[in-house]
Amino acid sequence: MRIIMLGAPGAGKGTQAKQIADKYQIPHISTGDIFRMNIKEGTELGKKAKTFMDQGALVPDELTVALVVDRIQKEDCKNGFVLDGFPRTIPQAEALDKKLAEMEEKMDYAIDVDVPDENIVNRMGGRRACVNCGSTYHIVSIPTKVEGICDKCGNEVVLRDDDKPETVQKRLKVYHEQTQPLIDYYNSQGILKSVNGVRPMEDVFAEIVRILGA
Ligand code: AMP
Repeated sequence: MRIIMLGAPGAGKGTQAKQIADKYQIPHISTGDIFRMNIKEGTELGKKAKTFMDQGALVPDELTVALVVDRIQKEDCKNGFVLDGFPRTIPQAEALDKKLAEMEEKMDYAIDVDVPDENIVNRMGGRRACVNCGSTYHIVSIPTKVEGICDKCGNEVVLRDDDKPETVQKRLKVYHEQTQPLIDYYNSQGILKSVNGVRPMEDVFAEIVRILGA
């Protein structure tokens, strides 16, 4: 099963993507996580990506497409994968379709987790991420067991630079201009499914499972 998660930054698509990956035993491919890992490791890709990410801008398509094209050809993607944060532009979506066509495959579902902007701004301010392993939490909806400390690795959890209010506004603008057109793109392919993301995450997940089939 090949799934794309669509939705504004902070709509909860990452949390849903992780659960889908667990339930259906397919890799969770988050371009944001891959960039953050590269930044942490100080790679060339990380250095290039950071300048864009810190401003709330998109990393250029050629860098992003190359890493996803490489990742989806790995052995563990044979039975499918869930893409989280990719594609984010029409050229990225076209490049993905082209690569899949070469592999004689195609995407099965594009799931749009729909959340209005005003909810997004509130959510992002409460988001916290581990400085070490990148696990994400929310001070209200997914709190850490011990305040300020990651449940998984015991390091500090902080508000990410790109989740700060001024950057969130920029990211939302970028989302509306560059990523939202993908909703029409996948609708016209007949694989778009929209779910209301303004609900408890268990309810959102239950609806996604209904769409995907048990
Ligand atoms: P995310 O964790 O998915 O919200 O991504 C964090 C940041 O990484 C974004 O604001 C972008 O700067 C960059 N990024 C992640 N995925 C992509 C993509 N598909 N295209 C361009 N930039 C991306």
